[in-house]
Amino acid sequence: MNDMLPGMPKRLFTATPTKLLNFADCKRKYRYTYLESPRPPKGPPWAHNTVGAVVHEVLADFFGRWPAARRTPDEVVAKMRSSWRSEGFRDERQSLDWRERSTEMVLGYLRDSDPYYEPRGVERTVGFTTERASLRGRIDRIDERLARDGSGGTELAIVDYKTGRRPLTSTDARSSLAMALYVLGARRVLHRPCTRVELHHLPTNTVAAADHDEESLGRHLKRAESMADDAAAAEARWAEGLTPAEADEVFPPEPSALCGWCDFAKICPQGRREAPTREPWAGLDEPSPVPLDEAG
Ligand code: SF4
Repeated sequence: MNDMLPGMPKRLFTATPTKLLNFADCKRKYRYTYLESPRPPKGPPWAHNTVGAVVHEVLADFFGRWPAARRTPDEVVAKMRSSWRSEGFRDERQSLDWRERSTEMVLGYLRDSDPYYEPRGVERTVGFTTERASLRGRIDRIDERLARDGSGGTELAIVDYKTGRRPLTSTDARSSLAMALYVLGARRVLHRPCTRVELHHLPTNTVAAADHDEESLGRHLKRAESMADDAAAAEARWAEGLTPAEADEVFPPEPSALCGWCDFAKICPQGRREAPTREPWAGLDEPSPVPLDEAG
């Protein structure tokens, strides 16, 4: 039913890049994640997500909350230990082994960093609206650097920390929908030029970087709006009230290699048939095919 009065502004579909990409990956997973209430039970937590979450927390504290005097290796080690949790690991031994490996990874990444460096934003939420959607997201870090055009002004760079096994390339940075939307959001919120996106891959201590131009940003935005339109249309059907059969028609299972890593595989027969369910710690050693924008 259309509950809008004539002349009222159109209600915008609100989404993060992760939500849009979930819709593109598998409609059933989207329904389970965002629409079903109560939400169907998820599988156990993944150990590789624990690694990613703790590393992100520690880096957020380091750059966003600690004064320069506290930014020492001893403090980093102490914080890694106090933040660590064993969710998803096979046993205590594996958890402690990964705590040490992750601590070394973070220390290696921070080794050459300037303790006095203050990023422009840490875990900063940005957002912007188009005629069709309201898009928002949280950026790991926004750097403000001397502009490369020689103007003497500054420009922003979007930094995303990655802890997955697969090494990353500039193509990964350029093709990331999330990073492109963060560029547009950071421009809108901070009123500074921004074209640079960087994936900081901690396991290899490398940076995969790319520079967007208006054309590449426009392509990403068009894709995001098209996904938002499709998701909004499906959600409108959901709001009308669907029988289980209709729900499966509007939000069908879309089996793929991702099923082996899906939180809902246990309750999805099509997904279980498509890919073996993995142990919660499998992602520590096996590069998961989860798309970059959704991986930590
Ligand atoms: S197991 Fe596969 S098909 Fe089933 S909900 Fe998850 S991603 Fe979709």
